[in-house]
Amino acid sequence: MTGKKIKIFLASPRGFCAGVDRAIEIVEKSLKKFGSPIYVRHEIVHNKSVVENLKKKGAIFVEELSEIKDSSRPVIFSAHGVPKNIPEEAEKKNIFFIDATCPLVTKVHKEADRHHKNGYQIILIGHKDHPEVIGTMGQLPVGSIKLIETDKDAQNINIGEFNKPLAYVTQTTLSIDDTMNIIEILRKKFPNIKSPIKEDICYATTNRQNSVKKIAPNCEMFFVIGSENSSNSKRLVETAKKFGCAKSELFDFSNSLPINQIMKVKTIGLTSGASAPEKLIKNFISALKKYFEVEINEIITSEEKVTFKLPKFLD
Ligand code: SF4
Repeated sequence: MTGKKIKIFLASPRGFCAGVDRAIEIVEKSLKKFGSPIYVRHEIVHNKSVVENLKKKGAIFVEELSEIKDSSRPVIFSAHGVPKNIPEEAEKKNIFFIDATCPLVTKVHKEADRHHKNGYQIILIGHKDHPEVIGTMGQLPVGSIKLIETDKDAQNINIGEFNKPLAYVTQTTLSIDDTMNIIEILRKKFPNIKSPIKEDICYATTNRQNSVKKIAPNCEMFFVIGSENSSNSKRLVETAKKFGCAKSELFDFSNSLPINQIMKVKTIGLTSGASAPEKLIKNFISALKKYFEVEINEIITSEEKVTFKLPKFLD
């Protein structure tokens, strides 16, 4: 303890969203109902500590169904969603599957499906190679969905390519502001483009970004607790930078705290991505308390009451 004081602006809401809560509960209840092992295709949610904890309880994580050694055991699909060919493959192999796709991702899948049935060419705004994007694109035949990632991609789209009316959908965990720019470009180019009835960026992403926007201007450093492969956590770092805190970073406990840098500041912002458990926030604060006299100022920008039902057989 150095006797130095530090003020933490703690964002709220932060951490687990309803989709992550549900996905983890699905794995835990499946382990209870069916015993171990249970296979999980892809990290159930993008957080190392959650995955490690479930491994200890008997979950085996695989990337593809071909890695499953015992096809008599159930497999759970992650919260990010899967392309349609994955449940089809499980059925062919007689593997019992449980789908933990977040209902808000399923909403985007259904939306894309509806547009496709109504004869639209779909534009998906998202990040290439993210499992949610792979899952959404895999709902429809190849070519039905065109992925764009940037303003430039939106500017370069040529309607002549499609010869169909256009509709867009988005990944659920994008930056609200960056996506708004891309949508504006699309709307200017294609005034008749069909938008989602309710925006696809989910409530949890929106609320977590809004709380960071409020806090970031008052902070000299900002830490987002979350894993490198967590899209929504990375967007929180970008948001903090954009809204006034240049020294913002993702912290996943793989390195020790940058105490020397923290020594130089008096205020830090703190939040966690939608897949990061609250105990990591507690661990972070406890680690700081070894060096500093810590004052915590929790800034609540909205209340969250969203919950999602479990599959009936696990209730
Ligand atoms: S971040 Fe949003 S879309 Fe993703 S699991 Fe959570 S609630 Fe669902």
